[in-house]
Amino acid sequence: MPGLQPSWQREPCPLWCIREHGEDDIALDRYHQGPPASLSVAMSTRPDEPHHNNFETVDLTLRVGRFSGEIVDWVAIEPIELTVPRIVLTAESASRLAQRVKEMLAHHAAG
Ligand SMILES: [Zn+2]
Repeated sequence: MPGLQPSWQREPCPLWCIREHGEDDIALDRYHQGPPASLSVAMSTRPDEPHHNNFETVDLTLRVGRFSGEIVDWVAIEPIELTVPRIVLTAESASRLAQRVKEMLAHHAAG
């Protein structure tokens, strides 16, 4: 969040950062974070193949981040109530994932 920076922070916060940074933040907490978004999806946490009988509606939270001093932004996607599993995507891997999902669904819809 724009304002006073702790001594470990070498760059200003990106404009989208809403995270409070503190002098005593441990290394893993030294990242910029955007405002969260949420999305409801179907998820199965069972080991057997996905089936509508074992789907649960899960609210996901999506948040953008960037570690201090780095240049790669990522999006973390995780169930709001569980925090695991967590999927972390960069712009490149998110694009590849979206493309692959679109291709698979289009292929199956055509057949
Ligand atoms: Zn920040």
